Amino acid sequence: MPRLVILGGGESGVGTAILGKKKGYDVFVSDFGKIKDNYKEVLTNNEIKWEDEQHTEELILNADVVMKSPGIPDKAPIVKKLVEKNIPVISEIEFAAPYTDAITIGITGSNGKTTTTMLTYHLLKEAGLNVGLGGNIGKSFAWQVADENFDYYVLELSSFQLDGIINYKPHIAILTNISPDHLDRYEYKYENYIESKFRITKNQTNQDYLIYDADDQASQNWLQNNKVKAQLIPFSITQNLEKGASLKNNTMEININEEEFLMDTADIALEGKHNFKNAMAATSVATILRIRKQTIRESLSNFQGVEHRLEKVLKIQNVQYINDSKATNVNATFFALDSMKTPTVWIVGGVDKGNDYTELMPLVFEKVKAIICLGVENKKIIDAFGNMVDIMVEVDNMHDAVNTARHIAEKGDSVLLSPACASFDLFENYEDRGNQFKSEVRNL
Ligand code: ADP
Repeated sequence: MPRLVILGGGESGVGTAILGKKKGYDVFVSDFGKIKDNYKEVLTNNEIKWEDEQHTEELILNADVVMKSPGIPDKAPIVKKLVEKNIPVISEIEFAAPYTDAITIGITGSNGKTTTTMLTYHLLKEAGLNVGLGGNIGKSFAWQVADENFDYYVLELSSFQLDGIINYKPHIAILTNISPDHLDRYEYKYENYIESKFRITKNQTNQDYLIYDADDQASQNWLQNNKVKAQLIPFSITQNLEKGASLKNNTMEININEEEFLMDTADIALEGKHNFKNAMAATSVATILRIRKQTIRESLSNFQGVEHRLEKVLKIQNVQYINDSKATNVNATFFALDSMKTPTVWIVGGVDKGNDYTELMPLVFEKVKAIICLGVENKKIIDAFGNMVDIMVEVDNMHDAVNTARHIAEKGDSVLLSPACASFDLFENYEDRGNQFKSEVRNL
């Protein structure tokens, strides 16, 4: 029996364990942290051996293959030892893909992955395809491969998942855009992170597709200097493209494989330029799969967006409250501010990931009337924008943030939570931050 060792007992680890067991591996799960009780129960019920709060080397270094969960960095000592012993260390996607004949659509990028993934899934599902949703969202891909029988999978793939692939290729890949993020995992080298994102296309053939943002500098540069076998499908909101997706006046126009799809952007439910890009990418997939135009049109007009991403919470006394808690970097916040059509009270701050606020300055100058700093350390924000807005307030909890915003905002304004920072100083995670925002707004 080949031995499969799984590092990390979370969603992807447990899913891989179930699939591995079903496929006849001798499976062992090891987590250096604590495994959640519900996962422990699943492992035990499936007669899968596991340990937590330790890595027992004798039980790990005898593996034939190791699946490393995406949260574990390559520099973890146990991973280094495995690599030294030439034991293959792969990701969940790489392990699970050979066990399904389904067509996979892999979606990566620095921002917009979840929105584009959910929208693509929605388009395929509404078209009546037998489709699963996985990767970084919901139930793990491996678990679904073990339990379900889908014809298609729409997968959100982080760069960490892509780092662990050897042979995996999506039939259709989307690279939404690239901006600096997670550099701590890439030796602080932006080029390493870019290479990691482009791994999504490395095994693709000329029968496959790579959909990418032709307005994105890093993507363009890489494509000019590297060969790609897949058919390239660009999308752009600034250029007129003959092939691919572009915006002409207020019409989204898609041309792929002799198929043409047109839609007025006013009929697309998602708002904001960045979301038109996400819609272009998702619609390109639907066009490649030859989904009926009427179905695509209906789905784009009824897609409700994803929680914590420019999510409209409530309008109170004609002030619109918007939750964009998932904006954990400057680029995401750029698009949030760009999409604001009213004077804005902006709630920003948290754990700074080496932010450069320069590119936000023109937008802040134009649209932001007050800034509420919601972080333990706000100096960088105050230094960047202090001279640009009349009102600047520091708070250290969501209750004060929302109530201060309410006092400042006037009829017709918006209150936008778009932190441009991680949330771990004052919140458990971005969901907790967004949920607290929504509940404080509802209590106003
Ligand atoms: P990801 O899964 O890549 O983090 P999300 O869809 O969760 O992406 O969106 C994260 C943040 O980025 C949100 O604040 C959202 O409004 C913003 N965003 C969404 N799509 C894009 C895009 N194409 N370009 C830049 N920012 C985007």
